[in-house]
Amino acid sequence: MGAQQVTDRFTELYGTAPQGVWAAPGRVNLIGEHTDYNDGFVMPFALPHRTTAAVSPRTDGILRLHSADADAPVAELTVDALAPGTDRTWTAYPAGVVWALREAGHPVTGADIHLSSTVPAGAGLSSSAALEVVVALALNDLYGLGLDGGRLALLCRHAENAYVGAPVGIMDQTASACCEAGHALFLDTRDLTRRQIPFDLSAEGLRLLVVDTRVEHSHSQGEYGWRRAGCEKGAALLGVGALRDIPHSGLDAALARLGDEEEIRRLVRHVVTENARVRRVVDLLEAGDPRAIGPVLVEGHASLRDDFRVSCPELDLTVETALAAGALGARMTGGGFGGSAVVLAEETDVPAVTAAVREAFAAADLTAPRTFEAVPSEGARRLLP
Ligand code: ADP
Ligand code: MG
Repeated sequence: MGAQQVTDRFTELYGTAPQGVWAAPGRVNLIGEHTDYNDGFVMPFALPHRTTAAVSPRTDGILRLHSADADAPVAELTVDALAPGTDRTWTAYPAGVVWALREAGHPVTGADIHLSSTVPAGAGLSSSAALEVVVALALNDLYGLGLDGGRLALLCRHAENAYVGAPVGIMDQTASACCEAGHALFLDTRDLTRRQIPFDLSAEGLRLLVVDTRVEHSHSQGEYGWRRAGCEKGAALLGVGALRDIPHSGLDAALARLGDEEEIRRLVRHVVTENARVRRVVDLLEAGDPRAIGPVLVEGHASLRDDFRVSCPELDLTVETALAAGALGARMTGGGFGGSAVVLAEETDVPAVTAAVREAFAAADLTAPRTFEAVPSEGARRLLP
């Protein structure tokens, strides 16, 4: 949504012009799946899709919230009364950010906020982080809090964990707050160090497609739970703090130590090899060889499908069809059991790859997937003034 449009709507809703307009993007993860809760590596990049917020501060303890994407009138909350777990609607995300800032001792005394987003909600592209980060950045600027992107990301995660009640990792908020255009973000989820990795696809004649399968298998919550517990058990059996501590060179020895714990062995193998794949992708991109990451993406998909077993027929069909139609690489992205896949292809092959995936879904009697090009875009920033 344009800055002018949200400014006009804000003025209509609240009677005066906003003091500023900010934007924060959604993201996709290029590689590094199910590694974050094992203290490992991830590599997201920001999408051009973003959430825009027009905001003014208030001094009277009132928080007014409105979203063009929620079918609801302006919500009016009292910042002193904000309490975790009490709000089951969309306003928990921005209110949670205000709560987290105040919890951390920052003197936020209210705000008027109007939001509008082009990030599809619930499609695994992190509309929730875009929403949190745009609000956090706006309040940071308006209240002169002086917090950097990494700190804002931590506060947003705390808001989503504690206030909304969703047990998410640190990737989404960090990506939204810290990504740069033409780059992917290499993030160490243990020490939170991050590095911008060149990923300027169009300069290379390449394209990255996101294929949203538009399926979400309902058992994903429980499936996530036992895998996460299995990873923790694996780390405990191997005597390390987290699976991140098993180097790739130590994988065979670790698997041997796990003996007949076949379930755990598979989980461990995925996490250890996935961390190694993230590092390989970093090395290849830094060496200026983006085409060479294709096979690494494919290996990552096979590991998620066969070892971690979080893929699904629609994601496998997308990956197989894209590769058969000439894509350089493809993998599921996000937690799995539906959601989206990423496909790396030569610019000239995009029409054929897209058509092949559509036809394959139609032939299998599946809902048509939503496909769009993901240009690595800038992270959260102020648009106006
Ligand atoms: P994802 O982050 O993958 O899009 P989530 O379930 O984490 O999915 O977050 C989606 C939820 O975030 C929505 O159901 C809604 O409550 C909230 N949300 C995201 N963007 C907006 C928006 N622009 N306006 C209102 N609510 C939003
Ligand atoms: Mg989310």
